Amino acid sequence: MLKGIAASPGIEIGKAYVLKGQQIVINRANIPDGMVEEEIKRLEEAIEKSKAQLKKIKEKAEEELGQDKAEIFQAHIMVLEDPVFIDEIKSKIKSDKITAENAVSMVSQNYVEMFNNMDDEYLKERAADIKDVSDRMIKNILGVSIETLADISEESIIIAKDLTPSDTAQMNKEKVLAFATDMGGRTSHTAIMARSLEIPAVVGLVDISLKAKSGDVVIVDGNKGIVYVNPDESTLKEYERMRLDYEKYRICLKELKDLPGETRDGTRKVELSANIGTPKDVKGALDNGAEGIGLYRTEFLYMDRDNLPTEEEQFAAYKQVAEAMAPRPIIIRTLDIGGDKKLPYLDMPDEMNPFLGWRAIRMCLDRPHILKTQLRAILRASLYGNIKIMYPMISCAEEIRKANAILEEAKQELKNEGIAFDDNLEVGIMVEIPSAAVIADILAKEVDFFSIGTNDLIQYTLAVDRMNEHISNLYEPLHPAVLRLVKNVIDASHRAGKWTGMCGEMAGDVIAAPILLGLGLDEFSMSASSIPQVKKIIRSLSYDEAKEIAERALNMESPDEIRKMVEEVIERIK
Ligand code: PEP
Ligand code: MG
Repeated sequence: MLKGIAASPGIEIGKAYVLKGQQIVINRANIPDGMVEEEIKRLEEAIEKSKAQLKKIKEKAEEELGQDKAEIFQAHIMVLEDPVFIDEIKSKIKSDKITAENAVSMVSQNYVEMFNNMDDEYLKERAADIKDVSDRMIKNILGVSIETLADISEESIIIAKDLTPSDTAQMNKEKVLAFATDMGGRTSHTAIMARSLEIPAVVGLVDISLKAKSGDVVIVDGNKGIVYVNPDESTLKEYERMRLDYEKYRICLKELKDLPGETRDGTRKVELSANIGTPKDVKGALDNGAEGIGLYRTEFLYMDRDNLPTEEEQFAAYKQVAEAMAPRPIIIRTLDIGGDKKLPYLDMPDEMNPFLGWRAIRMCLDRPHILKTQLRAILRASLYGNIKIMYPMISCAEEIRKANAILEEAKQELKNEGIAFDDNLEVGIMVEIPSAAVIADILAKEVDFFSIGTNDLIQYTLAVDRMNEHISNLYEPLHPAVLRLVKNVIDASHRAGKWTGMCGEMAGDVIAAPILLGLGLDEFSMSASSIPQVKKIIRSLSYDEAKEIAERALNMESPDEIRKMVEEVIERIK
């Protein structure tokens, strides 16, 4: 049995297809002066060949995966057309007197390291793109044929060191049952691709590509992050049964798509919404039966560019989401930059503790023109659907008042300009700082709603950096301190006649769901693909049962005890 990271749920059993990836030998020796021109010519020919290959892959991806998934190959072509990158490789050949493949390898390695060292997840992904393109260039320089997954003829479990966007775009998806890779984490390309294809995947298995041979029988358990190569008879039998059970469970989840998030006895209905980052994510939200968007992270509009997005650009994005979701509600969170996300074009300080620093609403209140432009765009879009505004990282009432004063200014300006908007749109805050959770009764007077951001609330409450893998065992949503804060926020909002949602990852956690339901949470917002499983739990319990589970959890002293109790309940209702 090999243990890795559960990257995409499901269980599959099948024959292995091991993508070997040829051994590439790079000639690191120096070349004589006279060969420099020759090497530059080899480089240029390889660039043209790579471009032609990528154009073909892009066309195939457009047909089979859609425009948005094909965009990555346009990005790859752009790397090949980037004069800075290409000139750097040529200069290296000339100055260091090295082969074309050596120069590509050295220059790209620098960029890969640079992007990998950035805190931003999005930029880290760019490192994978550069690696993918430069590997292709090197293979083309060396004339090594590029193995593709296009012609797998029988149903297979794909095993590889790692899968690149070009591997997955070319693969014959009808025949791919699952992925198992040596490298990768939950946000790696392989993991994201598997989730979007809805096939099981286990990544980070270290050396499965060496341990398995093509044709071996393999079990991929994407729920537990386990892979078996040539399992014994009893494991195989056991997994065949589990695979069928899981299949039935998936079908049952799909059937829930258009049903409401209502308890079994019909006495309590909650709203099940999706978190999105760009207008493109709306499709996944609707496909999974989202009743609204509980968190639209607007940061992505500001990233990967060299200036602030204009009011018009923002308006277009917000309007698109509002129209696509109407009449369902969408909660647009104002800019939450800082912490792990920096904008290169804003003069942002280097900080000792960026997560405790100049981020989100703090930065926006210091640079009110940024917030006002965003609020104007949101207000203008409010005519096209059911929009609500949410401020991130609020720690005290004063910040809400200051942000609302800027909102009032934006409204006044639009009125003076004769531009219409919804004057009654709801305004709420994220409760993600412990101080806000503790004084929820005070803050409730200033808002229409709360949305609990558990990703940050847990890290701040438990003093556990959410990005630090060394202490990830301490990052515990079921910690009694977290549950007490969540209860305090919900109760305070209800006493003030307001409502509370949750948009941190905890809202999509099946173990937390019965407790949150019982605590009276009004809205659960999560990754779209988690909605069906949470809905299943909610629809299987009566409200009284959920309240009892919540009360029992609040009286327990440790997360393990709480988890065990809820797991038993879930086993019973499954
Ligand atoms: C949170 O903190 O729970 C949250 C949803 O915001 P983000 O993950 O964007 O910080
Ligand atoms: Mg947050």
